[in-house]
Amino acid sequence: MKPKHLLITTLLLLVLLVTSGVAFAQDDWLPPDVAGAATQSRPRPITAFSDEEIIIDYYFDRVPQGQTGLVQVQTLDERALAQVQVVAFGRTVSFFAVDGEGFYGLFAVNMEQAPRDYPITFEVTFEDGEQRTVETMLKVSLGQFIRQDVFIPEDRLYLVDPVIERNEFARLGSILANGIPDPLWRGPWIYPTQGRRASPYGIFRTFNESVPARHTGWDMSVPLGTPIQTMGAGQVAFAGQLDIRGNYVLIDHGGGIFSGYAHMSQIHVTRGQRVSQGQIVGTVGSTGRSSGPHMHWEVIVNGQWVDSYQFAEMWMPTTDIELVHNDG
Ligand SMILES: [Zn+2]
Repeated sequence: MKPKHLLITTLLLLVLLVTSGVAFAQDDWLPPDVAGAATQSRPRPITAFSDEEIIIDYYFDRVPQGQTGLVQVQTLDERALAQVQVVAFGRTVSFFAVDGEGFYGLFAVNMEQAPRDYPITFEVTFEDGEQRTVETMLKVSLGQFIRQDVFIPEDRLYLVDPVIERNEFARLGSILANGIPDPLWRGPWIYPTQGRRASPYGIFRTFNESVPARHTGWDMSVPLGTPIQTMGAGQVAFAGQLDIRGNYVLIDHGGGIFSGYAHMSQIHVTRGQRVSQGQIVGTVGSTGRSSGPHMHWEVIVNGQWVDSYQFAEMWMPTTDIELVHNDG
């Protein structure tokens, strides 16, 4: 073989290897262990603001559309912090206290938030009642969402009606607006089940070549009847049937964090019930707007549907609360 031919053959082999490697990473990925989603160690924070009283640290340099960023506020003088309230993207975000580490909060970026820099206003209250207002900036970057065609069987075609989708969002919105203020989760989060990542969060979908919609969660390819467990401790905020999500369970983890599990064949919990991390809430099915058995897993943070994998895998502090015991 001539050197030139050898080079071309090697290049072709390399291209084949690289492309099959990419396909493997996207289609056949299996979580290493359901029992540990948050495998990341504490990242080095980036200081967004500091003076002699307050330090504000970001655990990111930018937040892509649809993702969540963690922020920490600490005091540098002898007075403890009593409360931290933040206005981000025109919404108020409540921060939660962690023993000896000040306050933490989450910036959940809407998947349609325009990529640019945004001002963030911190209202910090000290134990003696003194208040400070500090402004920082937050960079939102492009989310890189793909497009996907989805085909829904004829008998469920009425479910692609945008009015049905809007009504379902409105119904869930009223539940999300009345969440439990204090964290019930302890962290780190776990995956709801083991399975192949099938359809990604945030993608632009077209149903039956006509109706567009955004994907609010991740679809995991799992066999019919597989048990689904909660990603963290919390309280059941909704358990019942919805048009699009089918048999659906929504868990309120407190502190503005919710997780939802859709298209189930069976539901094992009832509204108001306390659940522990890993408790089985139902089984995989194909109810609602679904074209086959799978689990749709979604996470809502401060009212925004965010990337559930990114959220569960990012480093978060452990909240200092007692674990909720399994009662059913
Ligand atoms: Zn889905």
